[in-house]
Amino acid sequence: MAAKLIDGKAFATKIKADITAEISARKNQGFAAPCLAVILVGDNPASHIYVRNKRQACEEAGIKSIYHSLPNTIPENDLKELIHQLNNDPTVNGILLQLPLPEHINSDALLELIDPAKDVDGFHPYNLGRLAQRRPALQPCTPYGIMMLLDHIKETYKNRHAVIVGASNIVGRPMALELLLAGSTITICHRFTKDLSYFVKQADILVAAVGIPSLIKGDWIKPGATVIDVGINRLIDGSIMGDVEFTAAKEKAAWITPVPGGVGPMTTATLLKNTLTATINQDSETRDIP
Ligand code: NAP
Repeated sequence: MAAKLIDGKAFATKIKADITAEISARKNQGFAAPCLAVILVGDNPASHIYVRNKRQACEEAGIKSIYHSLPNTIPENDLKELIHQLNNDPTVNGILLQLPLPEHINSDALLELIDPAKDVDGFHPYNLGRLAQRRPALQPCTPYGIMMLLDHIKETYKNRHAVIVGASNIVGRPMALELLLAGSTITICHRFTKDLSYFVKQADILVAAVGIPSLIKGDWIKPGATVIDVGINRLIDGSIMGDVEFTAAKEKAAWITPVPGGVGPMTTATLLKNTLTATINQDSETRDIP
């Protein structure tokens, strides 16, 4: 039987409508609109598209966005100074540093400079550490969005083997922590995993986050599995496909995300959600950051 599609686009639209309504209600109570500062360095075309989409989503939800578009040649110290300014600006609630950064800039050092209370991407070691310690604060957007999708389809998590293919800091690792927190048994695969198919075939929940088109073969999918395809691979003809052989996998899975229209829209929705959460925390001065 063919799998049911997990319509991330439709679900993200609902989440964004809820966020918009909450922001509007807060404005009626006298609160200022949340404010997100977006920093983009260089002229990576994909980054420009991502930033444009994120800023448009902010505008639609009633979130003010401040844009810092900076040249590729900017010295690292100037970026550090900008982050300090934004950290200290009480009118800025969230800071988004669009990755990747040019090679001469140490991304990790800059991400670590962002005030964890304003770290709406959830990449700061403080926020990742909180997730690792089972006390999530601001959660990394893509795994957070995937958990919302899984909750939406009433995934049970416990007694389920979740296999995550990909171990990056922004997707694979926090994804594993989220699923572990939810009670699943976890396997993480990466480029040195021997016999990937052996592990994928055991997955009740499969999350593919590698960036290689059709790396995961359809006949590896366990019958009845839930398949989450995070991969975004642009083909020569301009089309986009995921990491999973969609047509064949759909015949074996119970649930599957399409690419596009699955995980991608949820990443933007959770960015808005984190921005609102950060704003509410700052307004109520319940910051539990040391
Ligand atoms: P990344 O930083 O390049 O990480 C890729 C991961 O895949 C690494 O952990 C790497 O292992 C692992 N890997 C590489 N080759 C492998 C192989 N043959 N078998 C198993 N694992 C392998 O990428 P990312 O930022 O996590 O993104 C992954 C994909 O998701 C990309 O297509 C990206 O565009 C997409 N993405 C989508 C969204 C969304 O919102 N939909 C958000 C973020 C990313 P090592 O750790 O050993 O190097």
